[in-house]
Amino acid sequence: MKLDVDSTDAALLEDTVDEFLWAVNYVTRHAFQGEYVTTSKTTLHDDTYEDVRDETALHSNHVQAARNKAAEACKSVVKKWKQGKKASMPHFTSPHLVYDHRTAMFHDEYVSLVTVDGRIEADYVLPDNKRDTPHAEYFFSDEYETTGAEVHYRNGNWMFHIHCKKDVESDTPEQATTENGTVLGVDLGVNNLAVTSTGTFWTGDEFGHWRREYENRRGDLQDHGTRWAHENMQAVGRKEEGRFKMTLHRISNELVAEARDHDCSVIAFEDLTDIRDRTGASWGHKWAFNRLYAYVEYKAAEYGIDVAQVDPENTSRRCSHCGFTHPDNRERESFECLKCGYENHADYNAAKNIGLRYLRRNQTGSGGGAPVGVRLNSGMLNANGEYEPPAEESARAGVHAESPQL
Ligand SMILES: [Zn+2]
Repeated sequence: MKLDVDSTDAALLEDTVDEFLWAVNYVTRHAFQGEYVTTSKTTLHDDTYEDVRDETALHSNHVQAARNKAAEACKSVVKKWKQGKKASMPHFTSPHLVYDHRTAMFHDEYVSLVTVDGRIEADYVLPDNKRDTPHAEYFFSDEYETTGAEVHYRNGNWMFHIHCKKDVESDTPEQATTENGTVLGVDLGVNNLAVTSTGTFWTGDEFGHWRREYENRRGDLQDHGTRWAHENMQAVGRKEEGRFKMTLHRISNELVAEARDHDCSVIAFEDLTDIRDRTGASWGHKWAFNRLYAYVEYKAAEYGIDVAQVDPENTSRRCSHCGFTHPDNRERESFECLKCGYENHADYNAAKNIGLRYLRRNQTGSGGGAPVGVRLNSGMLNANGEYEPPAEESARAGVHAESPQL
């Protein structure tokens, strides 16, 4: 709907729009600095929040909205790259502002909007015929709940785009999801050190390279057999161990951030006891997996996120889509179900199975605080393995696109 905004208030909205766009572009530029594009909202928040608060007079919720907008845009760029399409760093120029329930207060005749200098009140401009309009059907209807809005400046008018969703009963999965959270499944391995059910991959290349280098140098030094060589060997060991640990700290931080970004209440790993037999991992990998698990466990605890291990049996052979289990479903890194034809990266399929297994083992049936779904990059799997589309209006664009069969 159109908003009735006088010239003083329009000037305030314009200033707010300017600062909002500056903030979105600032966060986007930051995300593109460095070797990889940062898409984690948590990381972007940690990196840019203070700067944006210092540089602008934006309300904290506008700062968050700007960061979310930047993160979503960066995610869709990465998604395009993964699909082999071209995409460059997004730049926002279209004058608009994102509002939520803190920054916009919806009244019957008008809305109160936060600006860079206090609030303004703007009357709704509605058609004379108030029935059979979208406003009557959604915005003024008790059956729909207003979830947020955007203000757009277009052709000399301030337009108000309101997001509504059907009011839901408290016992439906959608609300239970926010209360009970979801599970992030994590698969550990040699080629990919970690892969999550949300489709984020941490490659094992770097770690594998260091481990080989360490073992080679250790071999060289041992051949010399002198006291000098022995001391050097220990020094190399400590230095390499320090580098391994730093990498594992970084990955564990990113895993916890992934869980926070997706509102997960549990991070599920496979049981690590026999992981060497299952994955052909070296002693070094086993050491790394145990470290990583321990780091994630204590870091997740800070945010009230539980960390658990589940029975690993068949997590790599089972189809996360239909449940069919067969060794031939998997061929190295590719998974293709012999029964239903579901195709995806084998480690990603395993990560989903790990999440599902946790979910099934912990479902009480009464929904007493147990997680209700496995978090995917868009939507989730419920305990029956059925796909549920995302509750949010804006679907997350993860770095690993879900196969269309799901
Ligand atoms: Zn299948």
